[in-house]
Amino acid sequence: MEPHREALLALSRDVRIHAHPELSGAEHHACAAVADFMAARGFTVERRAGGLETALIAVDDSCAKDDGAVTVAFLSEYDALPGLGHACGHNLIAVLGVGAALAFRDAAKAQGLNARVILFGSPAEETFGGKINLVDHGAFDKVDVALMAHPGTQNALRGVWLAMVSFSIEFFGKPSHASALPWEGVNALDAAVLAYQSVSVLRQQTLPSNRIHGIIKHGGDAPNIIPEYTKMEYYIRSERIEDLLELKAKIFKCFEGAALATGCTVKITEDPTFANVNHNDTLCAIYESHMRRLGADFTPDDVARTESRGSTGAQAAHGARCAAPRILPHKRNSRLLAGIADALHTLPASPLTSGALTRWSRLVLSCAPCLSVPMPSPDLDSPLATRPVATHTDMGNVTHVVPGIHPVFDIGARGFSYHTAEFAALAGQTSAFDRTMLAAYALAMTGIECATSPETLAKVRRDFQGA
Ligand SMILES: [Zn+2]
Ligand SMILES: [Zn+2]
Repeated sequence: MEPHREALLALSRDVRIHAHPELSGAEHHACAAVADFMAARGFTVERRAGGLETALIAVDDSCAKDDGAVTVAFLSEYDALPGLGHACGHNLIAVLGVGAALAFRDAAKAQGLNARVILFGSPAEETFGGKINLVDHGAFDKVDVALMAHPGTQNALRGVWLAMVSFSIEFFGKPSHASALPWEGVNALDAAVLAYQSVSVLRQQTLPSNRIHGIIKHGGDAPNIIPEYTKMEYYIRSERIEDLLELKAKIFKCFEGAALATGCTVKITEDPTFANVNHNDTLCAIYESHMRRLGADFTPDDVARTESRGSTGAQAAHGARCAAPRILPHKRNSRLLAGIADALHTLPASPLTSGALTRWSRLVLSCAPCLSVPMPSPDLDSPLATRPVATHTDMGNVTHVVPGIHPVFDIGARGFSYHTAEFAALAGQTSAFDRTMLAAYALAMTGIECATSPETLAKVRRDFQGA
């Protein structure tokens, strides 16, 4: 990583990206900067990849010896937010991918590995999700693992990255004078109001992990005209893509029902669907081990979750600092824990169970092994068991076609989060860049372990197939 540090710092901050934020789909300077950077370092660069003006695919085949070469992909993003600049830190993600790809190649060359490295420059993460286009174009067909990370307020392996789709709904009615001849009109606002209420009623019968938010974008032109046209916009999100598709079908019925009831016609226009992130356990564990070696700590929630998956390293770390055996007489403590275990066991396994798990009960669960208390396996695998993030990313779609990870790494944001002016300012600091380089190194080493050990790669694939 070190030989590339100064060039990467310039790429991140001063040359093009942080100082010149560009909106989704219009990242011309950033995309060109990354493409030129990779081309200058021997990568073969395809610009306008996947039919997108600001996407790129940079490939280095120099270590590939035959068809058995392991292909490791890293992903960069570079879009900014309107009015806020790089408030999601995508300038850091740009150099994270570039740095990881270069470090991977250096290490693969030094070790004589049979490997290939690809950097994807993926535009418009904040809007239409360029990775979705790249997936649809088969850009990941020959990729073995896809690795990226996102800057944030903490180190977290399996943040909540929900499946999400947005759509607009237009109702078409018939105008009429609202006082003289209202019976001649077909009221498109009535349709929108009915639809809004139907969706709100439906909300109670959906999973607590679902999120539904909508607005009436256009509600009519004047009170004395029966509205002939209305437009609504909705976002819906679910923990899993399967849940999202089921929810979407139910919500569409609300719009169709409102049109039927009012005599309007309805047109629904969907945007691309973002899948939830399918975290690969083996890749997460490797990334975690390298980050820990670099001094990173992970959130207690993530530690608890990792322990529930049997990570011996994390469990040992917890055991070393666990105070539970010293707090209460062993016997009484065991009974208490067993009671809690029973109570947790009787809860139905659903996202609600996970949401209902308090920090306290998770702590008890994580202390149980130290007390040799047999515990049930609550639904800690559910992404909603912890809530480091509750949004979506187009990396989700990538992780449904190839094994991948999308951890969050701490850049030192305290008291503020993504999409704020403070986060944008921090994303231009050298301290944030330095932490990004640590994550880049951990990602590169995760790729190297996959390229070095056929057993590891087989385990990654088993996790993916079993997911
Ligand atoms: Zn964002
Ligand atoms: Zn982001």
